[in-house]
Amino acid sequence: MTSTIHSTPAVQTTTTVHPTAEVSQHAIIGPGTKIWHQAQVREGAMIGANCIIGKGAYIDFGVSIGTNSKLQNGVFVYHGATIEEGVFLGPGVILTNDRSPRAINVDGTQKSDNDWQVTPIRVMRGASIGARAVILPGVTIGEYAMVGAGAVVTRHVPAYGLVYGNPARLHGHVCHCGAVLSRAGDEHAGPSHADSYWECPSCHQPFEFRAELETVQPVSDSGDELMPMLMPLYAASTSPTTSRS
Ligand SMILES: [Zn+2]
Repeated sequence: MTSTIHSTPAVQTTTTVHPTAEVSQHAIIGPGTKIWHQAQVREGAMIGANCIIGKGAYIDFGVSIGTNSKLQNGVFVYHGATIEEGVFLGPGVILTNDRSPRAINVDGTQKSDNDWQVTPIRVMRGASIGARAVILPGVTIGEYAMVGAGAVVTRHVPAYGLVYGNPARLHGHVCHCGAVLSRAGDEHAGPSHADSYWECPSCHQPFEFRAELETVQPVSDSGDELMPMLMPLYAASTSPTTSRS
């Protein structure tokens, strides 16, 4: 199966769909994406370039998945979910969509597709969700947030937030590289915001707590330059099969 949709300049790749996978002809699959054994991709799903859809994954109708995302074996993503670029979903992660599920109406008749309301989930760029975590309807997982394995996420997770447990609670913040941030030394700490500065112990990226965002953000001389600097590194590490034309 070859796709020219979502093609990126100077990169020529084909889509790989394992013979046992079931991909709707009305799904859109980006170049370089691999869909493995027994995965099902429903109609209207849009999967960007260079994604990996693991064995037995279920991608419901209309689900959107951004480029360079990795969905491990047995992930279930139900209708209404939007997954942005570079998202990691560990084995068995479930994204739900019904806040008050019932099989039947109050009169005992079985509910039809029109008898309930979808409550969508959004997983933002670079976020990671650990194995067998369950995300409840209406939740947004912020950019580069990290959800621990087995968590049940019932409320929004801020950008760079680290949550785990049932129900999941905020336990700290993580860097783009995935390391948990520690309190920064005095060189970053202003006199009135001594608790607001954080640093990655691995790559030493400084962060500051931004009250208006209720989370940390990376500190740089020019905030606008940080993301373009990081993104090529991220893309290169997740698309080993691309080749220049
Ligand atoms: Zn780091």
